[in-house]
Amino acid sequence: MDVYGLVGNPVGHSRSPPMHEAAYDELGIDARYVTFEPAEPNIADAVAGADALGIAGLNVTVPFKRDVLDLVEPDPLAERIGAVNTIDFSGDTPTGHNTDAGGARRALTSHGVALDGANAVLVGAGGAGRAIAFAIADAGASVAIANRTVETAASLAADVGDAASAHGLDAVPGLLADADVLVNATSVGMGEDASPVPANALHAGLTVMDAVYSPLDTRLLRDARDAGADTVDGAWMLLYQGVEAFERWTGRDAPVDAMNAALRARL
Ligand code: NAP
Repeated sequence: MDVYGLVGNPVGHSRSPPMHEAAYDELGIDARYVTFEPAEPNIADAVAGADALGIAGLNVTVPFKRDVLDLVEPDPLAERIGAVNTIDFSGDTPTGHNTDAGGARRALTSHGVALDGANAVLVGAGGAGRAIAFAIADAGASVAIANRTVETAASLAADVGDAASAHGLDAVPGLLADADVLVNATSVGMGEDASPVPANALHAGLTVMDAVYSPLDTRLLRDARDAGADTVDGAWMLLYQGVEAFERWTGRDAPVDAMNAALRARL
């Protein structure tokens, strides 16, 4: 039996175990997915221990995504983003990957969004925002990054390169006038009825994706629907980061519908 898991602190709320185990059940794979919650100073021991125990793969979540970068051999995308959310132990050395980026890209493209040549506005420049900015820019879109702390947006835009620009939140309504895609990667709306974007700046022809998945139907997404925009909820990014991790670890196409059903049953 192969063992996969999630390392983070806390991880009690995680929906990853049922999502991955639904995939194993669907494809008849003899594997289990469990959660691990090491104390923060013990993350290096935890990764080395997982390797020594023959654990096949680990997802990584808050607060360890940056720390793990130094504990594995990161691929170029994870290195550029500065965070690892997936470790593959199948080689001689554990390798680190970032499937949040591919997850965000696939969440958008699976909803018919053509990113190549698109104008995107990204609100938020924290952990999720970094992965999403690289995903959007690497797919050929320009990305205007707006953040409460403008310096953080500027630093991310410099890391992303020519396709990116940095702004404060007050610039968002103006930026949205010409935009095809809006992504919220702030924590605004998480567990609260609030939106980081004024409702009157949203319009038909825009696709709005929220990274927030608790609640699933955020104020931003409701405002977007009311304005005639298309919407993509935060469960899609969560789903596709898991799909990419599953495919990397097993080398098989993920049973996306089964994973989606298992995930949404718990949100
Ligand atoms: P993070 O690193 O702590 O970043 C938080 C971001 O939110 C920063 O840009 C911060 O701006 C901004 N922010 C916080 N409070 C704000 C406020 N009151 N007004 C305006 N901006 C505010 O968090 P994260 O890990 O990126 O997560 C962000 C959200 O994405 C969370 O809701 C998380 O659950 C979600 N997420 C979803 C997925 C998924 O797969 N769907 C994956 C990862 C994360 P400053 O820089 O100014 O502080």
